[in-house]
Amino acid sequence: MALDNGVIYLDHSATTPTRPEVVARMLPYFGELFGNPSSIYTLGRKSLDAIDSAHEAVARALNCRPTEIVFTGGGSEADNLAIKGIAYAQRRRGDHIITTAIEHHAVLRTCERLEQEGYRVTYLPVDEYGRVTPEQVEAAITDQTALVTIMYANNEIGTIQPIAEIGRICRERRVPFHTDAVQAGGQIELDVAALQVDMLSLSAHKFYGPKGVGLLYVRQGTRVQPQTLGGSQERNRRAGTENVPGVVGAAYALELARSERERENARLQALRDQLIAGMLALPDVRLTGHPTERLPQHASFTVAGVEGESLLLNLDLVGIAASSGSACTTGDIEPSHVLSAMGIPASAARGALRLTLGHSVTEEDIATTLQRMGEILPRLRALSTQPA
Ligand SMILES: *Cc1c(COP(=O)(O)O)cnc(C)c1O
Repeated sequence: MALDNGVIYLDHSATTPTRPEVVARMLPYFGELFGNPSSIYTLGRKSLDAIDSAHEAVARALNCRPTEIVFTGGGSEADNLAIKGIAYAQRRRGDHIITTAIEHHAVLRTCERLEQEGYRVTYLPVDEYGRVTPEQVEAAITDQTALVTIMYANNEIGTIQPIAEIGRICRERRVPFHTDAVQAGGQIELDVAALQVDMLSLSAHKFYGPKGVGLLYVRQGTRVQPQTLGGSQERNRRAGTENVPGVVGAAYALELARSERERENARLQALRDQLIAGMLALPDVRLTGHPTERLPQHASFTVAGVEGESLLLNLDLVGIAASSGSACTTGDIEPSHVLSAMGIPASAARGALRLTLGHSVTEEDIATTLQRMGEILPRLRALSTQPA
């Protein structure tokens, strides 16, 4: 079923609605359980207990220790903490960072800032599917390398990177390895021991938890310089009174996502494959990203001869919420850095379309979407070929 308001929501990579049972878990911490976790009396202790339980629940999901989890104010903050935190703590070891050309801006902008401060950053190129190879990473490591940061799954194209293989290389070479796993959170393997990562970022609003809550896994022994100073919360790694309801909601949402993962992935993947097959049957539509090594709920395309933005507006008019997958600021649309890194020309990237599925999406919604798409595309193309 579409959402209650009839909208077919196909933008789950942008955000997801907070599940009602997660909201219900959070509510008491806005109300009678409002105590400050740092306070000594019972009301404070109850909040601290809730924070401790959240650490334990996340640790079970990630196969790590509760003390290795740092809750943050979202995925962007977790990425910033990981990258700046390691770079500053490791400065004496080296000033070289390895990342890829297709990272989320929370990673790219942070690396650019460090470049301004004198660090050197290698932006690994990707292939036509948006993949890097473990060999590329290995070849880029020098004895000055302080950090490798490579995203688990890409938000625009859904491509999954070979994180465990890269992790093995980084561990052999004793280089700290961070992965932005924000898009992977609800969907794929998050066992940090199997992945051999030293740091991993997640964001609750990408797996049906609240917005403004994220977390960073920091492997024991990994030195990360705190980026927010003040109190001693989160074992001195992130100062500030904890977002108790948010942390409780994030942990519960992750628990639910992990327990439903297999069944829901199978359902979403089948729907996604129907959607992809239907879209590719329309003229001049191409899949972007890897055909198989991609998130189960993720479909992304370039649609020739249409402006992505007018396509999105026309879909909105018929009650379908979709995305171009690229960062468009009001008025001017920059070609996506991800698509250009994959060698897709700016002219084709203008017709970028991302359809990402989730809990509310049914087979009927996919059929409706394909039908609407079949109506809208010829109309937009006819318009765009008319002389001005
Ligand atoms: C959404 C997203 C982020 C940012 O997370 P916020 O919680 O919105 O700050 C970072 N990386 C990736 C890959 C994302 O998709």
